[in-house]
Amino acid sequence: MLKRDSSCCRAFGLAVGIGLSLTAGSWSYAQEYLSGIEWQEPPIITLGKENRDPPSDATILFDGKDLAAWENGDNWPVKDGVAYSGKGPIRTKEQFGDCQLHIEWSAPTPPSGSSQGRGNSGVFLMDRYEVQVLDSFDNETYFDGQAAAIYKQTPPMVNVMRKPGEWNTYDIFWTAPRFDENQQLASPAYITVVHNGVLVLNHFELLGDTPYHRPPAYEPHGATGPISLQDHGNPVAFRNIWVRPLKAPVGKQTRPPFIRDGEKETPVSAVGK
Ligand code: MG
Repeated sequence: MLKRDSSCCRAFGLAVGIGLSLTAGSWSYAQEYLSGIEWQEPPIITLGKENRDPPSDATILFDGKDLAAWENGDNWPVKDGVAYSGKGPIRTKEQFGDCQLHIEWSAPTPPSGSSQGRGNSGVFLMDRYEVQVLDSFDNETYFDGQAAAIYKQTPPMVNVMRKPGEWNTYDIFWTAPRFDENQQLASPAYITVVHNGVLVLNHFELLGDTPYHRPPAYEPHGATGPISLQDHGNPVAFRNIWVRPLKAPVGKQTRPPFIRDGEKETPVSAVGK
């Protein structure tokens, strides 16, 4: 009895639902929302054989030949297609703002040292915001200083470190901070990091730069800056480094958003509400 009642109610509700959509005419498959924005076609780029290979619009920072794209590159040895942390940091000659950065690195083997003294280097966006590079395979240290941490600000969500001697990948998605005309922070930096294919930082909001000895802070700087790699005294290996400056899709609002239903066009007063 109960079952028959509930089927009856469902059938009644369905009929009411259909009736409303037909009689009220509030929507139908014939109507379409249009944003009123004329978008430019996104550039077509081509891929390498594997996802770790640079796509056609990437700037190559190290492809195994030399470190000519870097200041101080002569002081880092390159051997068999691999660059090793050498004397002093290296900085890209070109400057970057918002970008996607791919970099592969491998901790020294056999491992030596412990905590921050073991396989330490770092990827610095704009020469001041560090994504930690550290041998975090079976190596205790403070969590906001382990591999893929934003140094002294946050640990990664998980530790997906490969063994020393094996190759790690970082895919870093960087939104640079913005400063207004009064040199005040208008928008903080954000970072997303994928370590060995696993999301470990998801749109993390940086509190400022990443020093060891004082709290993070924002100092005004330009819209772009070099990417740098740290010399922390350990011969960390690097290969296949490329970067893509990010450009937002381009479009022009040529008319307000509207709904088209046959010949009828109705403006939309609020989008996204
Ligand atoms: Mg470091």
